[in-house]
Amino acid sequence: MSRTEAPPLPEPLGVPVADSHTHLDMQDGSVEESLARAAAVNVTTVIQVGCDLKGSHWAAETAAAHPSVYAAVALHPNEAPRIVHGDQGAREAGGTAALHEALAEIDALAALDHVRGVGETGLDYFRTGPEGVAAQEESFRAHIEIAKRHGKALVIHDREAHADVLRILTDAGAPERTVFHCYSGDADMARICADAGYFMSFAGNVTFKNAQPLRDALVVAPLELVLVETDAPFLTPAPYRGRPNAPYLIPVTLRAMAAVKGVDEDTLASAVAGNTARAFDY
Ligand SMILES: [Zn+2]
Ligand SMILES: [Zn+2]
Repeated sequence: MSRTEAPPLPEPLGVPVADSHTHLDMQDGSVEESLARAAAVNVTTVIQVGCDLKGSHWAAETAAAHPSVYAAVALHPNEAPRIVHGDQGAREAGGTAALHEALAEIDALAALDHVRGVGETGLDYFRTGPEGVAAQEESFRAHIEIAKRHGKALVIHDREAHADVLRILTDAGAPERTVFHCYSGDADMARICADAGYFMSFAGNVTFKNAQPLRDALVVAPLELVLVETDAPFLTPAPYRGRPNAPYLIPVTLRAMAAVKGVDEDTLASAVAGNTARAFDY
C-alpha cells in the first residue's frame, strides 16, 4: 500500500455529524464524490472554507449548489499581507486600497444565506513574518466587524499567535459565535475560550503522538463547545498521517477524541452535531 493512497472508509458513525472546516477545492475528486463518501460514514454536513477571493466565491457557489454544504468566506491571514504588499512589492498605500476592495467582496459574500461563517481569519505568525503583522491585524479586525454585522460565525485561524488573537477578539468584541478552527492552544487557553464561550474545533492533529497538550486542552474544553474538523487536505489523523485527508475521515478523529474525553462515541457525536449547527446557525 502506497503512503499516498487514500485511507479506507472508516466504520460509519452512529450519529450524523458535520466536518466543521474543510477545503474541498484543494482535494482530489469531485465535490459530489467527496460528499457521497462522507455521507456514507454519516458525515452529512460540511463547512467549505474559502481562503482568498477566488476560493470564497467558490465556497459560496458550492454551498448554493449542495444542501449539505455551508460556506465560510474570508481572506486567510497569510493572504492579507500578500494583497497589501503584492507579489511585486506594491506600494503600501495602493496595497491598503487593494485590501479594502477585497474585503468589500468578502462583505458582499457574507450577506448570502448559504454563507454561514466569516473566516478563516486571524493571525499566523508561523508562515507570515513581522512585516505582515499589521496587514493581518487590519484584515482580522475587518472580518470581525463583517461577521458581527451579518450575524455570521467568526472562524479563527490562530497559528502561534494565541495571545494576540485573544487580545484582539476582546478588544474588538467577539461575535456571538466564534470558532477556533484547528484549535492549537493548551489547557489554560481552553479555559479562557470556555469562559468566553468560544467553540474549539479539533482537527486530525489531536491524534498525533506529540500532541498531548492538545489532548489536555480537549479534556478541559466543555462538551458543549467542542467541534470536529478535517481541515482537509491537511492534518490527516493517525494512523493515516501523510496520506490524503478528506471529510470521510472525520470518524477517525472523532473516535480518538471520544477516548480522550472519556465519553462514548455517540455522546460526543451528538454533542458535536448540535454544537456545529448552533455555531453555524443551520
Ligand atoms: Zn487554518
Ligand atoms: Zn483551513
